[in-house]
Amino acid sequence: MNILILGGGGREHALAWAISQNPKCDRLFCAPGNAGIAEIAECVRINPEDAAAVIAFAGEHAIDFVVIGPEAPLAAGVADELRNAGYLTFGPSKAAAQVEASKAFTKELCDAANAPTAAYARFTDAAPAKEYITEQGAPIVIKADGLAAGKGVTVAMDVDTALAAIDDCFSGAFGAAGAEVVIEEFMDGEEVSLFVLTDGTAMLSLASAQDHKRAYDGDEGPNTGGMGAYSPAPVLTPELLDQAMSQIVAPCLAELRDRGMPFAGVLYAGLMIQNGQARLVEYNARFGDPECQLLMARMGAQALDLLLAVAEGTLADAQVAWADDHAVTVVLAAKGYPGDYAKGEAIHLPDLTGQPLVQIFHAGTADQDGQLVSNGGRVLGVTARGATLQDARDLAYSVVDQVKWDGGFHRTDIGWRAL
Ligand code: ATP
Repeated sequence: MNILILGGGGREHALAWAISQNPKCDRLFCAPGNAGIAEIAECVRINPEDAAAVIAFAGEHAIDFVVIGPEAPLAAGVADELRNAGYLTFGPSKAAAQVEASKAFTKELCDAANAPTAAYARFTDAAPAKEYITEQGAPIVIKADGLAAGKGVTVAMDVDTALAAIDDCFSGAFGAAGAEVVIEEFMDGEEVSLFVLTDGTAMLSLASAQDHKRAYDGDEGPNTGGMGAYSPAPVLTPELLDQAMSQIVAPCLAELRDRGMPFAGVLYAGLMIQNGQARLVEYNARFGDPECQLLMARMGAQALDLLLAVAEGTLADAQVAWADDHAVTVVLAAKGYPGDYAKGEAIHLPDLTGQPLVQIFHAGTADQDGQLVSNGGRVLGVTARGATLQDARDLAYSVVDQVKWDGGFHRTDIGWRAL
């Protein structure tokens, strides 16, 4: 079959890497892709949020299956338009993708499903929001309702910071995403991500992972899109997994189904674990990045069969065969990220021929006259597998050390909580 992946980050490189190994895949396209993806797929200059352009391309290239990577096309309804045009598509509808696109929607969904999460209140004006904060005190969490690329959340340890975050939101800093604010109870504990495939009815929990959001070692520095991750995450014990599935994921999916907006795709549940209890922090409507790199490295070619089962509605018959292994991703970012950083710097990668347990997935890279150069904040993800977390981590860092790029930096402590 001919397959089109939408997106161009480390997540999409990992998806392309896994999908391209499945014998069902004949031609593989990626829009827009990146320099790493270009080595295994045909990259095309199409905006993934432009449904008309995607559909036109799919028609011209006899595409049989479209896989949507990022949240923006989902929130824009590209999956609905593709399905309406007759294309088999992996990715939830615009209505179901509200679990990520609107925090207020998800809080209210959790209420209806009786799913454990932080207590909250919603506001569309600054004055009552500030009054509420003054009543509640700190720590407290302020969130712009809509998609703000991870920048719309303030975990305020004091009331002044919380009040300033309210002004930020209503000042228009996040555009329409900040028209409504959700104020949440602060939850203490350890965070873990759980990835669940669902075709709207059947559910298949894939694996747990733990991300490292802060830029520097020891969880110091500003928040980022993710500096590295590992899977599985031992903090999500089998008991907690059962609890998260039965009390959070299953009832929320059932509620969406009852509302006539079944969620078909991958549901990413961000959980907070405290005192042997899992509570929902957030849902995302797509794979996380870097976590997708771990999942694809561990699943390999069977990932395509699973994504197809989701799109075709046959997930009840599907299984995932996990190797009893561990994976670690170390992200290499441009110095200065998540603030200002340079682009266009030369990068030299080691030859990994004969090393099947390690991959370098590209995020922000480009090809400049045959030279690989940096082209974003998060630039590369070195993803390694091993019999133990320590093995996977040692292998990943041994390859990180062989990457020649003066303008890059990385964390040296990925996986520290589990080790
Ligand atoms: P991202 O896409 O970067 O994960 P987001 O903008 O979708 O972020 P959330 O995941 O809701 O926002 O929040 C970002 C981070 O803030 C969480 O990963 C968590 O560390 C922290 N956080 C959010 N809500 C709470 C809460 N109620 N209590 C404690 N920490 C929280």
